[in-house]
Amino acid sequence: MSAPSRIAEVVAARLSAARNLLVLTGAGMSAESGVPTFREAQTGLWAQFNPLDLATPDAWMRDRELVWAWYCWRASLVRRAEPHEGHRVLARLGKRLSALQLVTQNVDDLHHRAGSEDVIHLHGSLFAPRCDTCGVAAEAHVIPSVPIDGPPQRLTPPACAHCAGHLRPGVVWFNESLPEHAWRRASDAAIKADVVLLIGTSGLVYPAAGLPGAAMAAGAFVVEINPQETALSRTISLHWNEGARVALSEIERHLSQQGT
Ligand code: NAD
Ligand code: ZN
Repeated sequence: MSAPSRIAEVVAARLSAARNLLVLTGAGMSAESGVPTFREAQTGLWAQFNPLDLATPDAWMRDRELVWAWYCWRASLVRRAEPHEGHRVLARLGKRLSALQLVTQNVDDLHHRAGSEDVIHLHGSLFAPRCDTCGVAAEAHVIPSVPIDGPPQRLTPPACAHCAGHLRPGVVWFNESLPEHAWRRASDAAIKADVVLLIGTSGLVYPAAGLPGAAMAAGAFVVEINPQETALSRTISLHWNEGARVALSEIERHLSQQGT
């Protein structure tokens, strides 16, 4: 049996024995659907900007049109993308293993579109705009689709229908708090989990990056699926040097062989 297949077998055995399973995904989960991770988003026209500088309340205050344009471009990329087999495996596992809790740092909707029903979004959604002043939610159709190869440099965010504010992206920016209910559910799932699958996250963005450590401290077996080593690789139980799509497909194959 090849080494990757052996790892898949070990992970599948852990999963089938788990009473509570947490899956935490990051931008690498969507990379094989063609959605850039944060670092890759710095290529092309946007090379002149650091995305991290665009994902803050300060950036919004400084230049709303620049930030709105960037998020319209990101939403357009996601609208054009399709979930890959790894997203679909997670949706099937969610139905098969009742104790699976899926938590994502992603602001795309690919887990939902693949069929996952209960997804905790720690960092909000590209498709949930709301007023920057009164907080009222607006429909996703107010986010215009823009060419994905030539994003506009600036776009005016729509005015709020209820006050003098503007609609802002419904994502959690750096220096903002996570949605309280989502964070509480994710923390509870981490502490309860026997097994954690950590997929496609660099482990640099806190507090989400603290979840695997909390799970480890409570006794969980934590597996990282990532073709690169990360800030967390040496702190967890097993680093699996593989992309999300292949690794998840392999896990599902072994679970089927084990009859789970
Ligand atoms: P990140 O960009 O910091 O890290 C991405 C990680 O994915 C890297 O460690 C990389 O090695 C790994 N990766 C790349 N291809 C992979 C593959 N095929 N399979 C598995 N792993 C792969 O992203 P992050 O850790 O999620 O954190 C940064 C923040 O970026 C998050 O808060 C998130 O909100 C935001 N973000 C989200 C999206 C999205 O919704 N799709 C896209 C970009 C950024
Ligand atoms: Zn308003």
